[in-house]
Amino acid sequence: MTLSPVRSFSAVVLLSALAACTSRNSSSPNSRAAPPSSEAAPLFRFHVDFWANLNQVLLHEALVPRPLWEGPKSLKNRHVVQTDTLGPSDAAQWHEAIAYYDSHFTTHNLFDHFVGAMPALLAVSSSQNPPTTTDLNEEWRRSLLLAGPIYRTHFWPEHERKDRAYIEGIRPLLAAHGAWFANRLVAVFGMPLPTDSIDVEVTPAVPPFGGFTQGEPPYTPPHAAQITLSSEDPNFTGDTGVEMVFHEASHLLVGRVQEKLEASAKGQGRKLPPRFWHDLIFYTAGHLARDRFGPSYVPFAERPASRLFQGENDPSLAILKREWQPYLDGRVTMDAAVAAMVASLPN
Ligand SMILES: [Zn+2]
Repeated sequence: MTLSPVRSFSAVVLLSALAACTSRNSSSPNSRAAPPSSEAAPLFRFHVDFWANLNQVLLHEALVPRPLWEGPKSLKNRHVVQTDTLGPSDAAQWHEAIAYYDSHFTTHNLFDHFVGAMPALLAVSSSQNPPTTTDLNEEWRRSLLLAGPIYRTHFWPEHERKDRAYIEGIRPLLAAHGAWFANRLVAVFGMPLPTDSIDVEVTPAVPPFGGFTQGEPPYTPPHAAQITLSSEDPNFTGDTGVEMVFHEASHLLVGRVQEKLEASAKGQGRKLPPRFWHDLIFYTAGHLARDRFGPSYVPFAERPASRLFQGENDPSLAILKREWQPYLDGRVTMDAAVAAMVASLPN
């Protein structure tokens, strides 16, 4: 999930896709260590940060389903903290912090808030307090400060350990396959990835889908590329995890094809389904994963459990298979594929 980029770029960059893992530097938290001049920047630079973890955990705990409530799809019905071991005063403080999230966020309004608040959460080390900003208002910040000491004592050590274990697990897969995926996606979408590493924040839960991406070319603040991933959602591990990491990275690259889809729909007098571009990036990363991992690999969105495409007869999936796959196979141009997809849409 992400903001959708709007600019078009035709430059293609080739990237080394070794994955690095760093702690943020507390004195200059968002600066990135310059890579050795003889090497390309690693494609991903992983981070595990206290305040970003706490924020995602509070959000997830507030959204975990209860009767008549639509919860997150990722880690559905699963808490990532056990609060029954907390003493009464800690429990009361924790639940007071959760109450802020409960009353302000739903599975539908997260991204506008979180994209803006993320810089403040990442700007300080775990021993400092995040600043109040336009996006991270005083009441929200107060909830974080209320929950902070409880989180630090009871939950953070295990979450930090699991986040780092997740990174160690995905790192060799990205080292083996990342450059291939990056180069294919850049060629397919005709947009550049950042020349510097993409920062990836790892936290136990990332509601509602397990991951989200912000940023767009030219990737300078406030458009810097940033992916946030769940360390406990099994869909982000193994080969599927590689597909999902590159699904997230595809959010950075979709602007050009999205513009073409919109222009073609206008020209042909047809209405684009609002999430068609998202179906397209799911399809693309999924079918690249199938090319890479072999024909027995089922793209994530096409698994019934994912509840994304509604079976083989899903209208968007049928259009993508018939009209977009030829472009992925190098048999038609992007413009021709876009025109054919739009012509297939219901009026
Ligand atoms: Zn997405």
